[in-house]
Amino acid sequence: MVSRVIPVDPFDLVIFGATGDLARRKILPGLYRRFCDGQMPPEARIIGAARTEQDSAAWVEQVAEAIETFLPAEKRDPAGLKAFCERLRYVPIDATGTAGWDALRAEMREGMVQAFYFSVAPSLFGALAERLHNLNIARHDARIVVEKPFGRDLASARELNATLAAHFREQQIYRIDHYLGKETVQNLMAVRFGNTLFEPLWNAQYVDHVQITVAEEVGVGGRGAYYDKSGAMRDMVQNHLMQLLCLTAMEPPAHFEPNAVRDEKLKVIRALDPVAPEHIVRGQYKAGQHPSYLQDVENEDSLTESFIAMKLHIANWRWNGTPFYLRTGKRLKSRKSEIVVHFKKTPHSIFDADAGSRSNVLSIRLQPDEGIDLRVTIKEPGPGGMRLIDVPLDMSFADALGPEATDVPDAYERLIMDVIRGNQTLFMRGDEVEAAWGWTDPIIEAWTRRADQPVPYAPGSTGPEEAAILMHRDDRRWREI
Ligand code: NAP
Repeated sequence: MVSRVIPVDPFDLVIFGATGDLARRKILPGLYRRFCDGQMPPEARIIGAARTEQDSAAWVEQVAEAIETFLPAEKRDPAGLKAFCERLRYVPIDATGTAGWDALRAEMREGMVQAFYFSVAPSLFGALAERLHNLNIARHDARIVVEKPFGRDLASARELNATLAAHFREQQIYRIDHYLGKETVQNLMAVRFGNTLFEPLWNAQYVDHVQITVAEEVGVGGRGAYYDKSGAMRDMVQNHLMQLLCLTAMEPPAHFEPNAVRDEKLKVIRALDPVAPEHIVRGQYKAGQHPSYLQDVENEDSLTESFIAMKLHIANWRWNGTPFYLRTGKRLKSRKSEIVVHFKKTPHSIFDADAGSRSNVLSIRLQPDEGIDLRVTIKEPGPGGMRLIDVPLDMSFADALGPEATDVPDAYERLIMDVIRGNQTLFMRGDEVEAAWGWTDPIIEAWTRRADQPVPYAPGSTGPEEAAILMHRDDRRWREI
């Protein structure tokens, strides 16, 4: 396969929080990969900013070390690293202070795309936005990139939106959800809207149900204090799972264009019915080889969930009667994220009674191995009568397109390049985020009111037994994780 990387326009990208975990693990290694791949033009410049007093040379050393640590050897190129590092500058700045801003302004060049990545705590977004605007550092067409969490409820999300809107227009604001940058998520749209095969079947008449799973093997780790105030609903469902749900369920947009896509996603959130308490299961992992959730967060009275499973209903013509089951949790059996569309059984089997009615299953895997497969029924080869088996019609990229096709940019790489290109399609709009909080808030408020107790589950399992029962009641089963 021939690489068709198109370089983006030359840019100045400022990373606030340049010494932090996210910058070191994802943003800088991602930018380096885009540079090595020829997507970043030679004139591009990356300016790191944080409070730490150091010069550019010291930061460059940290960046080189981060690239060595977080990228496997086969994705590194020593010559490329040297050339990449020549594009780096560092300016010490306290987001809430007055020093350093003149030095930052001096780094900004005319005629470059201007982007500011806020890889800092959300409490600093307002101070950064205000200074970039009031000190005339950001131009009228500058872009700002903001990280999750975008608020912790509707009120705080509105406040954050209002703070940013005081200094930047919506077209300048890029709210990152890295799930949207995954190759397969975009492939989901290609499969749905680039083929005639699927779209006519993509509705309640032919789809029995949809399962969306984001399972993690890890526990809350060092994020205990933050996570305990958040929980799976705020940390995963309101943003990542909701976005996957929207892309799966939305109507075809008129164009693959930012507002057309985001309008359709917003309609899905607005069509979500409130969820009945008996359609939600909340869990907390117990101790095993590792400490329990309660030990991890050092709060033995915590009522925060590390697992959630729920059954949702989208109240519109397309989906009336087709449930969407969402499930996410920590310390589960394996790390797996997928969207699985279970089509209805054939209405009548013309084969032996024991062959039964069959159903097709389309699975869109986000991790660990991105790919799409469709299970179809065929005759088992050979003699012995009409025996049926289900086989996967594998749409993995490597088989069809060659091994280079699997060497796709990481979600962060793609999304940062989209910021430079000025394409907001894969970023959340302010009203989408608010609508998602508007839907989750009453659920969380009800738990708080009732002091709802999460059920314990064994680490390394598929979650609490109650989650399996949620499915059994509907005569269905979760997919293996
Ligand atoms: P982190 O490791 O704590 O880093 C925070 C960064 O902000 C550091 O570079 C710190 O450097 C800088 N900083 C702190 N106070 C500052 C101030 N007053 N002025 C200027 N810079 C300041 O945090 P992180 O994990 O990188 O997370 C950054 C953001 O990304 C957060 O909003 C987080 O929720 C989000 N996020 C992170 C991840 C992840 O995997 N890490 C994933 C998703 C979202 P100095 O101390 O030198 O100032």
